[in-house]
Amino acid sequence: MTGKPRILVVEDESPIADTLVYALAQAGFQPEWCATAAQALQAFRRERPALAILDVGLPDRNGFDLFRDLHDLPGGAEVPMLFLTARSDEIDRVVGLELGADDYVAKPFSPRELAARVRAILRRSARAAPAPVPPTPLEVDGERHRVRYYGTLLDLSRYEFGLLRELASRPGRVFSRDELLARVWDADSESFDRTVDAHVKTLRAKLKAVAPEVEAIRTLRGTGYALQEDLPPRP
Ligand code: CA
Repeated sequence: MTGKPRILVVEDESPIADTLVYALAQAGFQPEWCATAAQALQAFRRERPALAILDVGLPDRNGFDLFRDLHDLPGGAEVPMLFLTARSDEIDRVVGLELGADDYVAKPFSPRELAARVRAILRRSARAAPAPVPPTPLEVDGERHRVRYYGTLLDLSRYEFGLLRELASRPGRVFSRDELLARVWDADSESFDRTVDAHVKTLRAKLKAVAPEVEAIRTLRGTGYALQEDLPPRP
């Protein structure tokens, strides 16, 4: 680890890449040369760079497609990207498509100007970086029917998931057994109050297995259940 910002240079022509790598190294960056889009994806996955410079004309893929692929990788949307382009119609595409690229540089370029541009983009993105969001203890993914609790993926039955999703829709609110039966179970299934209790019991056990000291589901005697409103950030 050098502590210098790592810059991915994706350019198939080695004389241009050499110039770029040299100029960036001179400016205090840690450049890494990739000659193809495939190499770039690999390098990006291995370690997220501080910034990526993408040539539009690459042998295995065009720079626009590569941009989208990199953008979709974990954390890819946060990495500023700069296009390197040789033709004015490419510039039109960079600007017109509103890809969200941070800038472009037209070939031929001045290496010093390019390094200055990279520095300016990094400064700008450091300012724009959002404050880190504290992880929520309970994340319910209704589309995938998945629940993460303190970062752990829970293995829930259909009804346990339904119960938790219902309770989590309004933390703190008390749901009666009848309400939960009506919302989570099918109308024609044979279910009773104790069905709810039994599923809450197994659900609780699974939550406890992750965070033993956290009482996530409260029982309100004679009334029903509620999800704890203020789950501690870390158990
Ligand atoms: Ca090229």
